[in-house]
Amino acid sequence: MAAARTLRIGLIPGDGIGREVIPAGRRILESLPASLNLKFSFVDLEAGYETFQKTGTALPDKTVDILKNECDGALFGAVSSPSTKVAGYSSPIVALRKKLDLYANVRPVKTTAGNSNGKPIDLVIVRENTEDLYVKEERTIDTPNGKVAEAIKRISEHASFRISKIAGEIALSRQNIRDAAGTSTRNQPMVTITHKSNVLSQTDGLFRETARRALAAEKFSSVFVEEQIVDSMVYKLFRQPEFYDVIVAPNLYGDILSDGAAALVGSLGLVPSANVGDGFAIGEPCHGSAPDIEGKGISNPIATIRSVALMLEFLGEMNAAAKIYAAVDGNLDAAQFLTPDMGGKATTQQVLEDVLKRL
Ligand code: ATP
Ligand code: MG
Repeated sequence: MAAARTLRIGLIPGDGIGREVIPAGRRILESLPASLNLKFSFVDLEAGYETFQKTGTALPDKTVDILKNECDGALFGAVSSPSTKVAGYSSPIVALRKKLDLYANVRPVKTTAGNSNGKPIDLVIVRENTEDLYVKEERTIDTPNGKVAEAIKRISEHASFRISKIAGEIALSRQNIRDAAGTSTRNQPMVTITHKSNVLSQTDGLFRETARRALAAEKFSSVFVEEQIVDSMVYKLFRQPEFYDVIVAPNLYGDILSDGAAALVGSLGLVPSANVGDGFAIGEPCHGSAPDIEGKGISNPIATIRSVALMLEFLGEMNAAAKIYAAVDGNLDAAQFLTPDMGGKATTQQVLEDVLKRL
């Protein structure tokens, strides 16, 4: 047997229930079947609001250095944001995305037969994470008729190309995982390009054109590529979510679509995400620090467990990812151990144990 691959994973629990769910993520990695020939080493790292209160910075340099120089990937829990603006505090995950050039935000939205009202949903939104209106170049001008505020919407060929390429790769990888699990409900992977180029012919026009070009590459020949104007995308996403596979979008549309899509599955406690760059991925549950349930031992670990799988996908470990997804689906379908957000009575620990048993 070939030597086991060892992956070094940074653990950043952050604040609130981040500290309850990240240990569950670690247990999942430690408990993967030996047949996968994968080993993990872990390093505990600090970031978040409590870190800010203790040290004056929400993202210590040490955390960034260790992630950059030692780690293959990371898990990020949640950070609480103060309700009023605190001088000097800014979100560490936003800073991390910049510092590590994690240019894609990937958010799968999935229901299983057991937790959907209609047809199962299984889609992923791939959001560009570095430009568009989020370059935050705004200005306000005083005019005789009052103030006028403007913002720059910047779309580059470079960023549009790499986000579309990663969307194509995700589509292929999802098809492989479906095929391996024998659960393929689609004949071919699909990518939907979202834009508003009928109005913004230059910015969104460039996004659309570049996405088309990226996805026309030979390696994506099995991928069906379609496009949707963003408003009609919202309509279809809510009317017919089961139709979609991979949706790629510029930053702002991606932001809105991701939160909207998360609402389709019920609990925030189910939805994972990954922040992805070239050769690095951080898995991160979509929920926040949930101060209302902190310390009660009832936070749903599924979003984190799915984030672990997502991180592994981007580190090239498809088989490990597929095993975790299957274990989670098993837990949800059996509906025996569910946390209160899902209408159950189980604790974080019981859900974790049930998923581990299915692994
Ligand atoms: P933050 O400011 O950190 O985002 P928040 O108060 O907005 O905190 P969220 O974490 O965004 O809280 O959660 C919103 C709601 O969803 C809360 O009622 C929370 O209890 C619930 N929730 C979020 N994550 C989970 C989870 N993993 N398990 C159970 N319930 C959750
Ligand atoms: Mg929140």
